[in-house]
This record gives sequence, C-alpha cells and structure tokens, in this order.
Amino acid sequence: MPYPYQKIGAAGVEAIKSITSSKRVKVGEEILPEYCHDEMPEYGIFQPDLYVEAENTQEVSAVMKYGYDHNIPVVVRGAGTGLAGGSTCKYGGIMLSLMRMNRIFPVDRKNQTITCEPGALLLDVQAAALEEGLFYPPDPGEKTATIGGNVITNAGGMKAVRYGLTRDFVRCMEAVLPDGSIVNFSSNVVKNTTGYDVKDLIIGSEGTLCILTQVTLKLLPAPKCSCTLVMPFQNLESCADMVPKVLDLPFTPTAIEFMERELLEIVKRTLNKPFPAPDGGAVLIVMYDAASPEELEAACDTACDAALENGALDCMIADTPERMESVWQVRGAILEGMKADSVAQEECDVVVPRSAIAQYVKAAKKIGLSHGIRVEPCGHAGDGNIHTELLRDPGMSDEEWKTATHASLTELYAISKKLGGQLSGEHGIGNGRLEFLEPFLGSRMIRLYKSIKLAFDEKLVLNPGKIVEYHI
Ligand SMILES: Cc1cc2nc3c(=O)[nH]c(=O)nc-3n(C[C@H](O)[C@H](O)[C@H](O)COP(=O)(O)OP(=O)(O)OC[C@H]3O[C@@H](n4cnc5c(N)ncnc54)[C@H](O)[C@@H]3O)c2cc1C
Repeated sequence: MPYPYQKIGAAGVEAIKSITSSKRVKVGEEILPEYCHDEMPEYGIFQPDLYVEAENTQEVSAVMKYGYDHNIPVVVRGAGTGLAGGSTCKYGGIMLSLMRMNRIFPVDRKNQTITCEPGALLLDVQAAALEEGLFYPPDPGEKTATIGGNVITNAGGMKAVRYGLTRDFVRCMEAVLPDGSIVNFSSNVVKNTTGYDVKDLIIGSEGTLCILTQVTLKLLPAPKCSCTLVMPFQNLESCADMVPKVLDLPFTPTAIEFMERELLEIVKRTLNKPFPAPDGGAVLIVMYDAASPEELEAACDTACDAALENGALDCMIADTPERMESVWQVRGAILEGMKADSVAQEECDVVVPRSAIAQYVKAAKKIGLSHGIRVEPCGHAGDGNIHTELLRDPGMSDEEWKTATHASLTELYAISKKLGGQLSGEHGIGNGRLEFLEPFLGSRMIRLYKSIKLAFDEKLVLNPGKIVEYHI
C-alpha cells in the first residue's frame, strides 16, 4: 500500500449506512463483480471494500469526508464505461456510485444551458436539449456513459472536429473536494477571468481531484440538416492527404473519420455489415451539419469536387437517414467487429498532428507485425486521434500476448511522441496508461502533477493510483 490507508471495518460500514441508507450500501460478496473493473478489465480488477450509491450532494460530501477523516480511499463510479481503468478501487476502500443522481433540470433558454446531476446519461441530456430545439454537440461513442464521467474525462467523439470536446461546453460545476467541502467552479457566465481557471483543470482530471456533483452545459441551436460523404481512395496516404484539404474548404465539417479496407472487410465478414463503397484501400467519411438545405448542398458539392480533384475514386453522398445509417453503422460496429475477429484486444489511443496520420498508421502496423500481432488503426482523422487496436489471434499463449502487447504499446507511444503526438486523445490515463505517461511529460511535469494532486488531496484518498502514483 502506498499510504497507510485504513480498512473500512464494521463501524465504518454502519457510518456509511447512517449517512446514506442501508439499502444502498453493499459489502463483500454483495458487491457485483462488474464494479471490480471498467470496460478494460485488462487494466486491473480490484475489489471495493464497500459500494454505496449516493442520492445527493450532501451524501457525497459526508461519504467523502468519512473517507478523508479515516484515511479510506474513495473512488467515484459513473456508468463504468471508461477505457482507462479509471473507476476502480486500486487500493480498496469505498466505491461511490453517482448513478442515482441523474436529474436533468429544465433547459435555461435565456442562457442556452442545461443543468444536470452527474449520473444523467449522455443520451438523456442530448434528448432533453433536443426537445427544446437545442443541441448538446459532444458525441462520444458510448451514449450510456454519464455526463459526469464525460466531463471528468473530457470525452471527445467524432463531432469534435467542428464543435470541440466536452470541455468546450462546460459553463460551471458544483463539486465535492476530498475533505468533503462543497465548492463551485465558475457560474453560468459566458466568460470568466476571475483568477485561476480551476474549472478547466477539473475537466479531464479523471476523478482524482474532486467529485463532480452538478454541471451546467452550454447548448447550441440544433442544425437543421446533415449529410455524410464517403470518399474512397486508392491508399491510406492519399486518404490522409485529403484531410487538411477538407479542412481548408469554406465549410467546417462536423466529423472526418478514416478506415482502411482491411477493417471494413472485418466488419463485413464478422457482422455481415457491408460498407456501401466497395472500392479503394482506404475511405474517408466526412459529415456536414448545416442550417439550411442550400448550405448543406454547397458544402457537399464543394467537398466532392475537392475530393475528386485530389484522387478520390468516387464521392458518394449519403443524404437520407437510411443512407447515412448504412455508413455510420459500419463505423460504429468496428469495435464489435474486431472483438469478433480476435481472441483478445488491447487498445492505444494516441493523438498525432494531422499531418502525421499516414506515417503513424504505417509505423503502427509495422510495429505490430514485428511482435507477431495484428494492429488495426482507425478513427478520428479530423483531429489526429487514432484508435489503435491490437488484436490477438488464436494460438498465442497468454505470456506471448502479454509480452507482445507491452512491447508494441511501448513502441507505439514512442512513435507518437516522435511525431509530435500525445499519449491519449480520448479516454485518459487512469490506471492502464500510467506507466507510459512520464516520457510524455518529463520529470519536472510529473512533480508538478503531484503538487496539483496534493493541493486538492493531501491525504491521497480520492481515486489513488490514477494519473499520478505515489510510492510513499
Ligand atoms: C463502446 C465505447 C465507446 C466509447 N467512445 C468514446 C468516445 O468516443 N470518446 C471518449 O472520450 N470516450 C469514449 N468511451 C469511453 C467512456 O465512455 C468515457 O470515458 C466516459 O466519459 C466514461 O463515463 P462513465 O460514466 O462510464 O465513467 P466511469 O467509467 O464510471 O468513470 C470514468 C472516470 O471518471 C471518474 N468519474 C466518473 N464520474 C465522476 C464524477 N461525477 N466525479 C468525479 N469523478 C468521476 C471515475 O472515477 C473514473 O476515473 C467509449 C467507451 C465505450 C465502451
């Protein structure tokens, strides 16, 4: 144990029950196995000593204060869809679920904002905004994640090209600090230069600095119409070269995704979902939102002309919901397809400068090959965030797979760094990527990270062992 943490004990269990309710507290074998890991059990399976569901900020504050006063780690749990091993009790202690805190308050039309509790699901927040003709643009792939989880991991998604990340939509927050104090970061104002921007430090802090208990999000007018273009290219290089050209056009795309043919074939073979464009070694999918059909038509025509001038084999326009669905359902099925096509998977999620996409993808495949594993990169070409899936084929022993993935990840991160990239473009560091962080930051920055952690949490009781690790 890195710190003299205490075990919760019978008195502690009673104390948490009296703060909340005995019906909402579980211990030992009552705790479901799913709470021992997130969507990446590879990044650690850890048993909480106690699992509790909070219903309001006061309960969150009191549970957190109990942990703080008694040196018991507390880890917040949203929907557990994280891909970094973040919401796990690495050093035991209390798992604090916020799923019951899921109220969404009426849209504030004058400020164009929506306020919700952290356990509200992304899909419900998006729907509540849409009911009022407004739009919450961040669109990470997993719609059943909580909004609290989205904010605290600064979730991205495909529409980041046009609209930005979750960070860009957070107006203000209420949170509980590790000592149990309840604080507010900013208020419902459009701009704020009142001192340090701590709000922006909290966003993306992966539950290591404070517990988000309420958030107010900026909304936009909903786009009136959308369209998707499919541009097949002979090879990856010409496909990647098209990305800056699309971004140079007068219309800003909503999403730009790329996939190689190999991946499209996997989805077709394993899930019987053929991609509508049968030719080309790599395809670019470009989406536009617009305020009118005329604007949409102009954006699509301009992009198609540019694609055909720059070597696209075709430019298919998917302008009905059915046609758009036929494209996006294949993109959405990639993870499932790769799972069906392999015995096990590992994932790295680097972000590289857009100019380096093709170079990174080629290097990634070579790295995998040199260690005897398949590497399938794909993803958000518009922002250089390449989901790089490592696939285990039958016949590989556990030991061989472990050694090969570790060696591959080390080299993949090194190549990302060399190309000017970063360790994670989405999903974060959590427990799974901790050992790869220091080369990206350097020792001075690691010290700064530790100081930040200590400034919030001098007893290291909130989600210990994530992003920064102490060996005391
Ligand atoms: C199929 C699939 C697709 C995905 N696509 C994307 C994508 O496109 N983009 C992307 O960014 N992510 C994506 N993810 C990852 C995941 O959905 C996000 O990280 C999401 O934001 C996690 O939310 P959650 O509620 O599941 O949080 P959890 O997994 O429960 O927790 C994640 C981290 O946040 C902390 N936390 C959660 N809530 C709070 C809170 N209220 N206060 C303090 N800390 C808190 C936890 O302690 C943990 O460290 C995807 C996951 C899957 C399975």
